[in-house]
Amino acid sequence: MNVNHILVVGSGVMGRGIAYSAALGGYQVTLCDISQSAIENAKSEIGHLFLKAVDSERLTSEKAEHFSSKLNYSTELEKSASSANFVIEAVPEVMSIKKEIFEKLDQYTSTETILATNTSTMSPTEIGSYTNRADKIIAMHFFNPVHKMKLVEIIKGLETSEETLRVTQEIAHAMGKETVGVNEFPGFVTSRISSLVGNEAFNMLMEGVGSPEEIDKAIELGLNYPMGPFKLGDLVGLDTRLKNLEYLHKTLGEKYRPSPLLVKYVKAGRLGRKSGKGVYNY
Ligand code: NAD
Repeated sequence: MNVNHILVVGSGVMGRGIAYSAALGGYQVTLCDISQSAIENAKSEIGHLFLKAVDSERLTSEKAEHFSSKLNYSTELEKSASSANFVIEAVPEVMSIKKEIFEKLDQYTSTETILATNTSTMSPTEIGSYTNRADKIIAMHFFNPVHKMKLVEIIKGLETSEETLRVTQEIAHAMGKETVGVNEFPGFVTSRISSLVGNEAFNMLMEGVGSPEEIDKAIELGLNYPMGPFKLGDLVGLDTRLKNLEYLHKTLGEKYRPSPLLVKYVKAGRLGRKSGKGVYNY
């Protein structure tokens, strides 16, 4: 199968990075969202990424213009889906939203089109059950910030075909990523670990073990993590972190119970960098 047009659904923290990396991989890309303001923010952030790449001489201005012209933006899913032969979904980590999107994509795209999900925790088998093409459903888990992070975890569902896996790996490699194949289990490898670490940091903050700065510094310098758990949580989005924990709590049990302090931050609208305030102010 020859993929030339990738549709990315959801233009938030992840979707915009995936769209940028897919354009650099040489694909024609449409970035679609229900929110016009999310699209405007994504457009401006992707513009900054191209500018930074030119400033740091990773791209010539001609190349930046060439790749930038491969990107289109839309709020009309049906229209954007009709010509896509590979879709990457990056809408919120809520199964009912993913279900609605996959039911629509199943209807709007060609029957040959592969539908990938950027879910951090959820079952591609369940997502596939909302379509009539379980063999063409796969999880393609990118990392934040997408343009810098090398890994994509790839998870087959029960009925995902070898051809779907092969095409997905090929696309990840064209986007400059390394892949690791993981068997389907909630949270895969990375979210299972990072959710626990991020949650424990909130429990430690609640118990008064240290300030956010002290906890981040201890984890960075003592455990050699590139980024402390609060800095990372603010980058990921505390709402997204909470949704991951809620799913893992439901599927894997008590050790993933969300910290009450994390719940409080999300209720207060302190979602991290994307809302201007999380554990830290931006
Ligand atoms: P986000 O909240 O930043 O963005 C989600 C976007 O989806 C928003 O722009 C929203 O307007 C849009 N959206 C909502 N409903 C929609 C619909 N019906 N149709 C089209 N667009 C819709 O979320 P995010 O952090 O980008 O996460 C997206 C997915 O990626 C989640 O499944 C998350 O678990 C996963 N993920 C997130 C990270 C991270 O670090 N944030 C890392 C890896 C994977």
